[in-house]
Amino acid sequence: ILQKQIRNFSIIAHIDHGKSTLSDRLIQLTGIVSERDMKEQMLDTMDIERERGITIKSQTVSLPYTAEDGTEYLLNLIDTPGHVDFSYEVSRALKSCEGALIIVDATQGVEAQTLANLYLAMELNLTILPVINKIDLPSAEVEWVKNQIEEDLGLDGENALQVSAKTGQGVDQLFPAIVAAIPPPTVDKDNRFKALIFDSNYDSFRGTIVHFRIFDGTIKKGDTILFMQNDSQYKVEEVGLFQIKRIPQKSLYGGQVGYLIAGIKNISDVKIGDTITMADRPCAKPVGGFREPTPVVFSSMYPVASDDYEELTEALERLKLNDASLIYEKDSSAALGFGYRCGFLGLLHLEVVQERLEREYDISLILTSPSVQYEITTTDGQVNIIDNPVNYPDPAEISKIREPFIKATIIVPDRYMGNVMQVCHEFRGVSKTYQYLTSNRMEMKFELPLAEVVYEFYDRLKSVTQGYGSFDYEIAGYQETDLVKLDFLINGERVDALSILIHRDKAEARARTACKKLREEIPRQQFKIPIQGAIGGKIIARETVSAFRKDVTAKCYGGDISRKRKLLEKQKKGKKRMKMVGSVEIPQSAFLSVLKSE
Ligand code: GDP
Ligand code: MG
Repeated sequence: ILQKQIRNFSIIAHIDHGKSTLSDRLIQLTGIVSERDMKEQMLDTMDIERERGITIKSQTVSLPYTAEDGTEYLLNLIDTPGHVDFSYEVSRALKSCEGALIIVDATQGVEAQTLANLYLAMELNLTILPVINKIDLPSAEVEWVKNQIEEDLGLDGENALQVSAKTGQGVDQLFPAIVAAIPPPTVDKDNRFKALIFDSNYDSFRGTIVHFRIFDGTIKKGDTILFMQNDSQYKVEEVGLFQIKRIPQKSLYGGQVGYLIAGIKNISDVKIGDTITMADRPCAKPVGGFREPTPVVFSSMYPVASDDYEELTEALERLKLNDASLIYEKDSSAALGFGYRCGFLGLLHLEVVQERLEREYDISLILTSPSVQYEITTTDGQVNIIDNPVNYPDPAEISKIREPFIKATIIVPDRYMGNVMQVCHEFRGVSKTYQYLTSNRMEMKFELPLAEVVYEFYDRLKSVTQGYGSFDYEIAGYQETDLVKLDFLINGERVDALSILIHRDKAEARARTACKKLREEIPRQQFKIPIQGAIGGKIIARETVSAFRKDVTAKCYGGDISRKRKLLEKQKKGKKRMKMVGSVEIPQSAFLSVLKSE
């Protein structure tokens, strides 16, 4: 296969418009997977991805295609995750492509993420091929969508391909269209090996598998490679292509997309976005745009059963092998015992990690309220970075506090402009600029405290824009703020794991809703349980759980012993998700409830 027979492309779309289904169909048509092995959403390999229907880790597949004239092609489909938490992975993946298919659901039309993803692709000068999907549905409005592709996306709507990823109708037309429209990869003519790492994963037998796109030169077994950012060297053991399975090759060359194995023990040694070159003949400069993914949200994790601590330790170590962006360190709480303080790319990332730990490693967890990193200057002039309320200094010793802000870009139909303004102000945002992109679509820019974005901003934005609001952000530095530490006392005892750091103006309302939530979540016990919210020594909210004796056997009137035993066992199981704090049992859900406003 020559370079001119290669095409590198991604599929981008608003969520649910059919990206995964279409990928499956393309894979199926090439016949690289037997019918028997074909299952839905081949590229979404994690359970959570399949269940939630979202793509978290990008995956790559090389599709062989023979054109009508007999020419053979290799079409490399590089899959991308679709959520803002993972937008860094999206841009890495797109940077490895010359083109992208942009899918639009024929019943929904152009939506927010269609545009956001289009902008990402346009910034990288990709050739963009519009595809109208779901034409099998009776409610499909192909003409209307063609129009939107012209007007909103500025692309050729008239010649947009029309397919049904579900029935397969029209999908075979995509292959010749990709070959004709998307240019083959160009290579720098330096002849010094240069490749971009866009992903990695961990294999327990082979170590870290590096996914890369070659921009110049060739690579083969035995080469000594250099990771430029990391300044580390490895000897290549194997190179190859992805065809769901890894297919080893003698060598890979300019323009190709593939993997390498080089006895790399730890996935953290491989940085997404880093440039690979040859140790003895390095290229002049890296591919560029390298950025460390930095965690922005922090939370502590405790096993519900204290004796699961060892298991949690092991599970985190193993999860880290597959997710280099996860960071953690030992932590302990008076209320919850030993645990870990973890850093995440965003809230979805946090949820995904929690779910994987609970599901893949079978550990029940309690997570504390997520926090951002504050910069606190004490009266002695010291500057401390603090993300854990436990480390909050005595307020008398604080001279200045700064919190991280983001630059948010929100794209919405103009009819939602007022709603968006309102939500942004509600979350302490400041409006910067706004402009019309098309006759009825706006781009609005705000500066918002990151802490507010972590706390429900995205959900609220989505609901007030009925899902049409697309949101993207970048970190924009620190600004001075008025922060307080809000504590919760249960039965008179301060529960350190419930404390949060919050802006003074928001503390009282938050304390009230959190107390109410805790009251609902904490089961009645034989005594009254006061729940209080406090700043320093001052109580600012209060609720009470009234006394009640919960006797689960009461309803099986005498008699049936085995039924009684079953009920008691069931109750015991339920207890595993409870945590004794002082004399009160607090369910796992109570710790999470403090985070939510409604
Ligand atoms: P993604 O979020 O873009 O990856 O979307 P999915 O591929 O997961 O598809 C979202 C939903 O739309 C799933 O329930 C699919 O079965 C359905 N779907 C995808 N393509 C088609 C299509 O061409 N026709 C119909 N009727 N349904 C489709
Ligand atoms: Mg998907």
